[in-house]
Amino acid sequence: QYILGIETSCDETAAAIVKNGREIVANVVASQIESHKRFGGVVPEIASRHHVEQLTIVFEEAMKQAELSFEDISAIAVTEGPGLVGALLTGINAAKALAFSHSIPLVGVHHIAGHIYANRLIKELEFPLLALVVSGGHTELVYMKEHGNFKVIGETLDDAAGEAYDKVARTIGLPYPGGPHIDRLAHEGQATIDLPRAWLSEGSFDFSFSGLKSAVINTLHNAKQKGIELDPKDVAASFQASVVDVLVTKTTQAVEKYKVKQLLLAGGVAANKGLRAALEKEFSQKDEVELIIPPLSLCTDNAAMIAAAGSILFDKGMRSDLALNANPGLELNSSY
Ligand code: ATP
Ligand code: MG
Ligand code: FE
Repeated sequence: QYILGIETSCDETAAAIVKNGREIVANVVASQIESHKRFGGVVPEIASRHHVEQLTIVFEEAMKQAELSFEDISAIAVTEGPGLVGALLTGINAAKALAFSHSIPLVGVHHIAGHIYANRLIKELEFPLLALVVSGGHTELVYMKEHGNFKVIGETLDDAAGEAYDKVARTIGLPYPGGPHIDRLAHEGQATIDLPRAWLSEGSFDFSFSGLKSAVINTLHNAKQKGIELDPKDVAASFQASVVDVLVTKTTQAVEKYKVKQLLLAGGVAANKGLRAALEKEFSQKDEVELIIPPLSLCTDNAAMIAAAGSILFDKGMRSDLALNANPGLELNSSY
């Protein structure tokens, strides 16, 4: 079985081909970061236009790398949401055109299901499992009792982790996207600044990062008024220490409570070195639970993860028709 995956939910135009849900045959990603950088964030109109320009190139490159023809493709999996509506539509329309013209089944995939299934490209999944999803738009703990079954047991009440990273980065004058820059600086600095950790109510697996973000901004502002120069490296290290502390502590509690066999890390912030190291430290000694962390290229947006999730949905008999539409606010708990 070969699944062609297409992903255009944000600022990466991606196409990939995955064999039997687990093996990457081709994985092509065209990033638009350079075009959005000067605006300090993703501009939806520009994103859509780039997708239209890049889609054919990216898709043809994937087919070429895989040395496959359309007769070999079992299904086309495309991100239907969540994401930017115009960006999503470019990928969906391309997928529909290909599915229709070559009579290939079409499967709409949830972007976050994709991020989670990136892990299956590394290791076979064992249930029940927990996934810590940390990306530009999401921060959540997802419980899975079987394939294609997602239960969100906790989520951010305000900013996503990646969003907080990008906003704090902008405050200390770092380019977009700021996550990797903060990560790098954090390793050169010391976590000497006392910043808050939002534990929320006892036993809650929800998250909140907007207070932390404001605390960083206030700390910088107050220091400046007193004529004190704070080292951005120490600010980055202190901020990262707070984020990682909350993420790892809550995840550890959830793993204990739900007695899962595996813990998966997913989403762009999964590329964070501090988070990866802290999770490895916490879980490498524990025999009961297996920690899976994908390589960096499968943490940030890509289409191999969409094909991997699409493979499971396809096997379950799920099909989308040509009425498939972009769903910018698609919930993970819904129809999967
Ligand atoms: P979503 O998946 O929620 O729709 P998205 O697709 O835009 O959002 P991703 O592409 O999964 O998000 O992740 C991008 C985010 O990851 C950005 O906020 C970026 O700053 C962050 N990020 C990438 N690398 C790192 C890192 N090393 N440390 C922290 N954050 C990082
Ligand atoms: Mg992105
Ligand atoms: Fe993403």
